[in-house]
Amino acid sequence: MKRRRGRRARGRPPGPDRRRLLRGAREFLAAIGERDLERDMRRTPDRVADAWHHEILAGYRADPDRILATAFRTEEQGMVVVRDIPFVSVCVHHLLPFHGTAHVAYLPGDRLVGLSKIARAVDALASRLQLQERLTRQVVDAVTRALRPRGAACRMEAEHLCMTVRGARKKGTRVVTSAYSGAFLKDASLRAEFLRLSDAVAGSRSRRRRAG
Ligand SMILES: [Zn+2]
Repeated sequence: MKRRRGRRARGRPPGPDRRRLLRGAREFLAAIGERDLERDMRRTPDRVADAWHHEILAGYRADPDRILATAFRTEEQGMVVVRDIPFVSVCVHHLLPFHGTAHVAYLPGDRLVGLSKIARAVDALASRLQLQERLTRQVVDAVTRALRPRGAACRMEAEHLCMTVRGARKKGTRVVTSAYSGAFLKDASLRAEFLRLSDAVAGSRSRRRRAG
């Protein structure tokens, strides 16, 4: 029991404490000092605590390794690409959201996993305080640990609210990050194929826009 708790503590943080979030939200509102809206804000600390605890930071209670542990045996060798996975995360520097799409690929060793599991693992890691670079690396590491593929890749494109509502205030700027493991690190043609396959999304999206 003790050992399990220790392992858990090392592996991932315990997650947010709703009571302290509530206290913090009250203090934050008091510091802003808005009086005209006092009636409208009566339930705001509760809403803020619930949103951060149950939704925005729900990833701390999810374990990507567990989600991906449902892999099954396969002889398949071709590259698997799960593209255009929407995600929302929170930047650790400003506590403001960044949101965009993730594209994940792996070259199966002898295991495949259900495609929705990859999306759920991205969610579990994104719904925490994050840096986009670290999040991208964590997705590759989780896939590599769980599926023991010949290689894994992840590319993320996101808009950061900390770049649009403050700082540079450049709306529409996208931050692109990528991370690789195994064969993707060694073989530039594999990386090129992954980028081509995940880029096809932009093409299909603009085609849809034209059609609409
Ligand atoms: Zn930021």
